[in-house]
Amino acid sequence: MLARRSTFEFVLRERTEARAGVRTVRGARVVGLITAPDDPCRVIGVHTADGRTWTADLVVDASGRRTDLSD
Ligand SMILES: Cc1cc2nc3c(=O)[nH]c(=O)nc-3n(C[C@H](O)[C@H](O)[C@H](O)COP(=O)(O)OP(=O)(O)OC[C@H]3O[C@@H](n4cnc5c(N)ncnc54)[C@H](O)[C@@H]3O)c2cc1C
Repeated sequence: MLARRSTFEFVLRERTEARAGVRTVRGARVVGLITAPDDPCRVIGVHTADGRTWTADLVVDASGRRTDLSD
């Protein structure tokens, strides 16, 4: 497939955000994880640098190869 990456990313984002239940939050830097009280290996949310807390059924780390996940 030949396409500009920015075009591909724009279309992918547009189609994703058009789906029900999807909300994009820009500029939110994750600084910590919240784990289940009964299972420290199960991540149920994140803390962001602005002091907010976000809970979720599923948390996916897609922060790239320099991920801070191991820390
Ligand atoms: C100069 C250059 C050229 C490249 N050219 C090509 C190419 O031609 N073809 C190709 O296939 N690949 C190319 N690559 C590789 C490609 O860019 C990566 O493989 C790809 O971007 C990885 O995608 P990703 O979603 O895993 O991570 P990324 O694209 O790195 O996305 C990670 C995202 O997570 C965000 N993030 C990080 N930490 C946090 C945090 N704590 N809280 C919230 N968000 C966070 C970042 O801001 C970023 O938006 C190139 C890479 C570079 C550097």
